[in-house]
Amino acid sequence: MAHCGTLFIISSPSGAGKSSLIRGLLDRPSIDGMLQVSVSHTTRSARPGEVDGIHYHFVSQPEFQTLIERGAFYEWAQVFDNYYGTSREWIDEQLEKGIDILLDIDWQGARQIRAQSPSAKSIFVLPPSRVELERRLNARQQDTAEVIKGRMDKAVSEMSHYDEYDYLLVNDNFDHALDRLSAIIEAERASTEKQAIRFQNLLDGLLAE
Ligand code: 5GP
Repeated sequence: MAHCGTLFIISSPSGAGKSSLIRGLLDRPSIDGMLQVSVSHTTRSARPGEVDGIHYHFVSQPEFQTLIERGAFYEWAQVFDNYYGTSREWIDEQLEKGIDILLDIDWQGARQIRAQSPSAKSIFVLPPSRVELERRLNARQQDTAEVIKGRMDKAVSEMSHYDEYDYLLVNDNFDHALDRLSAIIEAERASTEKQAIRFQNLLDGLLAE
């Protein structure tokens, strides 16, 4: 079967509300279970409430290094003080089945994916203001003040890459941002290239002499 799922990349600085948008997106009936979020590998430790195999595959540095050497990753990057990577095998299987994949990765990973899969569509989520971003980072109460300050600096650096993305989404109002995110996914699904694969039988019938 032709490769017909779409690879979507979503990036944002920490605190822009990307995780809530992804959760909201998966609950939309129009997404109809045909979109799956890739579970990355990471060397960072699990935060309270995070479950191995669901939020991330939590691995040690040596394990991560072995996966790099095996060529298991589509992309990998050092983000903050930890390593993160997207494993290749599961993604290729889903795309072959026509399932769309959402990669929640940083700009470094996004660059690597674009280089290998130019048809991937990328979305960058921005917070509505710097003050709001800082408020959201504080509201998490999971990190120390020092970590939050570091994340603010990193957020500015991450945001400077917004112009490498196909779509820019400002998360000013959650429901509106979710509508726009959903519209991006649906527009891509409705493209002639994707529909021609999905409705091949219909087209054959309609165009028969
Ligand atoms: P967190 O530690 O807060 O879950 O994620 C920190 C950052 O790492 C986020 O920007 C997230 O998008 C990014 N990230 C998560 N998984 C991957 C991955 O597999 N590859 C890359 N390049 N970045 C990732």
